[in-house]
Amino acid sequence: MNTCIPKYIKEKHQGGLLEKIQQASALLTACTLCPRGCKVDRTKGEPGYCTTGEKAVVASFSAHFGEEPQLVGDSGSGTIFFSHCNLKCVFCQNYDISVRGTGQAVEDEQIAGIMLHLQKIGCHNINLVTPTHVVPNILKALDIAVDCGLNLPLVYNCSGYESLETLGILKNIIDIYMPDFKFWDPELSKRYCHAKDYPGTARAAIREMNDQVGDLVVDGEGIACSGLIVRHLVMPGNLDGTYHILKFLKEKVSAHTHVNLMSQYHPMGEANNIKELSRCLRPDEFRRALDMAKQLNLEIIR
Ligand code: SF4
Repeated sequence: MNTCIPKYIKEKHQGGLLEKIQQASALLTACTLCPRGCKVDRTKGEPGYCTTGEKAVVASFSAHFGEEPQLVGDSGSGTIFFSHCNLKCVFCQNYDISVRGTGQAVEDEQIAGIMLHLQKIGCHNINLVTPTHVVPNILKALDIAVDCGLNLPLVYNCSGYESLETLGILKNIIDIYMPDFKFWDPELSKRYCHAKDYPGTARAAIREMNDQVGDLVVDGEGIACSGLIVRHLVMPGNLDGTYHILKFLKEKVSAHTHVNLMSQYHPMGEANNIKELSRCLRPDEFRRALDMAKQLNLEIIR
C-alpha cells in the first residue's frame, strides 16, 4: 500500500500541470528539450539527434524487480521503457531500445493507460526510463492518469544529460530523480556519446535535482517516497573518473547522496570497436570503486 503523496497531485489541483504541459510542448517546435538543442520542429515530424517525432515510442512496460530495493519493495517498480535516447552511449546496455529505437509509437492516452495498469497490478511507483526526449508526452499522460486516480510517486530515470529549463518544468512533478552520472572527463564523453559538455551538464542537472527533491526519503516499509538516487556505472580502466564523480556528489550535492554503484559493464553496441571498452569490468576494479564510496561515507545502495 503506497502511503506517499506524489507532488504532481497538488500541482495538478493548483492548475500548474496544465501550464507545464504548455511550456514543455512549446519547446518541441524548435526542440530544446535537452542540451543537444537540435532546434528541429518535432511537431512536423522532423527528427533531431534522438530521432523521436511528436509521439513517444514505448519499448516495454512491466513490474520490474531489478531496480533499486527502495523502488522495488515486494511488488516491483512500474517501469515504462521509452525508446530512443538523447545521449546514445556507444556502449549502451540497452542498445536495441536506445539507438535502434525498437518499440511502438503510442498516443499520450495510451501512456496514461500504462501508468494506471502498473498502479493496478500493485507497483510502488511509475519509473520513467529514458524520459528526457518525451517530457511533453509524459506530462500530458500524467494529466489524464491523475483524473483516473493515479497516485504513485513518479521516478525520472535518466542519463543525467538534462537541460535546466526542462528540469524547471518538472519541478513539483517528479518525486524521485534517478540520474546516471557517467563520465567526469569531457574527452571521454565526447568519444563515448558525442557530448563533450556531458560532465558539466550532468553536474548542474544533478544539483538542480537535489535542490528540488533533496535526499532520499522512504516510508515505513522502506519504499522510496521522494529524493535523489544517483547511478554510476563503473567503467573499465576509469576509476579516476569514478573517484571525481563520487567526491563531487559528497561535497557539492549532499553528504547523504544515495549512490548505486553498478558493476555490470560489458561490451555492447559499438563498444567492441573501442579498445578500452572492449572488455568487462574486473571484480578488483569494482571493489576499488566500492572502497572509494565507503571512504567518502556516501549512502551506498546495494
Ligand atoms: S530532445 Fe531530441 S530533438 Fe530535442 S534537443 Fe534533445 S536530442 Fe534534439
